[in-house]
Amino acid sequence: MCLWADWDRFGHKAEVIPVRINVADLLTEAGQHKAAPVAVAMEPVEFGGQVFHFDRPLTGEVEIWNTGDSLLVKGSLAGEVLIQCSRCLAPITLPLDLSFEEEFVEGEPPAEGEEAGDEGDDDRTITYFQGDEIDLTEALQQNILLELPMKPLCSEDCLGLCPTCGANRNETSCTCQQATDVDPRLAALKDLLRKPDSNS
Ligand SMILES: [Zn+2]
Ligand SMILES: [Zn+2]
Repeated sequence: MCLWADWDRFGHKAEVIPVRINVADLLTEAGQHKAAPVAVAMEPVEFGGQVFHFDRPLTGEVEIWNTGDSLLVKGSLAGEVLIQCSRCLAPITLPLDLSFEEEFVEGEPPAEGEEAGDEGDDDRTITYFQGDEIDLTEALQQNILLELPMKPLCSEDCLGLCPTCGANRNETSCTCQQATDVDPRLAALKDLLRKPDSNS
């Protein structure tokens, strides 16, 4: 079954399609296991002063195990994010590649304020589900958000914008460049070095 059969209908609009997987066949007994393809659509995300756009859903695969106590979900996703270079503001496309692990427990979530017990000690978040389906949408979106780059660059040696005239220094060498290259602290140091006996 294709989980994003209707994707083309939405074009580039990031209409989020829920990622739900039927687990009825896994719940019959502990040890059951299966794999399923997934696709996660993301709406544009504003984060750290930048807007991240996703042209296409991120795609990958999940594997689900019935451990007896819970359903353990492990998977990986790959895709790309459209963003601006944090130095020169050029539009760039960066690959995103991530793996994740989630745990689903059948039943009602504990009431707020109630102690989660010994199992709440580790970092793994538990999602509660009822019925035959687990909904991975939110968990997968959270995992994608964690992978977003904080200071994306078009290239490691991006020269950025000229702070004086705003020109993109990757494309043009403006005339302000020479003036800003002379650091007054270095000029002072040069003077000191010319007087080797200055500290006696
Ligand atoms: Zn750049
Ligand atoms: Zn300039």
